[in-house]
Amino acid sequence: MLIGALEAGGTKMVCSIGTPQGGVLQRASFPTAAPEVTVPQIVDFISKFEVEALGIGSFGPLDLNPASPTYGSITHTPKAGWSGYPLLQELRARLGVPAVIDTDVNAAALAEWKMGAGRGLHSLLYVTVGTGIGGGLVIGDQLVHGLVHPELGHMLLSVEPSDTMPDGICPFHRHCLEGLASGPAIEKRWGLSAKLMTEDHPAWALEAAYLAQMCANAIVTFSPEVIVLGGGVMQQMHLFPHIREKTLALLGGYVDSDRLTPEGIESYIVPPALGVNSGVTGALLLGAQALEGKA
Ligand code: ADP
Ligand code: ZN
Repeated sequence: MLIGALEAGGTKMVCSIGTPQGGVLQRASFPTAAPEVTVPQIVDFISKFEVEALGIGSFGPLDLNPASPTYGSITHTPKAGWSGYPLLQELRARLGVPAVIDTDVNAAALAEWKMGAGRGLHSLLYVTVGTGIGGGLVIGDQLVHGLVHPELGHMLLSVEPSDTMPDGICPFHRHCLEGLASGPAIEKRWGLSAKLMTEDHPAWALEAAYLAQMCANAIVTFSPEVIVLGGGVMQQMHLFPHIREKTLALLGGYVDSDRLTPEGIESYIVPPALGVNSGVTGALLLGAQALEGKA
């Protein structure tokens, strides 16, 4: 049995064909142009295969309220043509199969929870640190949607005293996490590609400090059993020990758990166990949910 998966991103749309268990068999990628151009490319590729359902992990913000007439639409976005676009409805209608949509980070959180770093647990926070910052959350064996859906990237932080760009670059907020710590924020602050920065570049101590603030805030707010940090910036694996250490320092011993000790935290703040495949695996699992009648 085949499932279609769409990872809808701001720069590219990655379409995959796989199994309900998350195995990937085929993949194709298209630049994110206007929907009139890009959606037919997605449909053409996926309809070459006999998929029985579709799972979509998408950039947002999304309307994820099942009672809303615009359920499954992208709400407001600066990406030309995509504001208000009914992504779920269009793909479901054009492909003629059941489909489920969630945020890209909730899809990744789902995959890491079911098959990766959160196997056997009941809660997990997945955060991607890339062009943007977003968080997907499982609490009590459920993906969290709530009023809209979590927008963890826009959590407001305390500015580090050494920061030369204290307002950050988010057009909506001063000193939010994404504005201070996304890949583009790092590159704007230092005028250098993050990929080219050596391990001893001062950018990384600042980055670890901001990501530790996020982790400490998330721990006291949601109490997740594991925090998974993925995305392009987290390819810098040397960040992990610093983030762990600074998170413990910020918590000050207040939260009592063997996971929040110098030894325990090594398996508590971790990279994605599924590597770069969390997103696609999650989209396939969403597709499997659509088959189970949840669409
Ligand atoms: P996207 O968020 O667009 O889906 P990524 O998660 O790859 O894609 O994030 C891209 C961002 O991550 C860019 O801003 C880039 O500077 C940064 N990035 C990508 N790879 C690395 C790396 N190896 N080291 C540091 N930063 C990186
Ligand atoms: Zn913001």
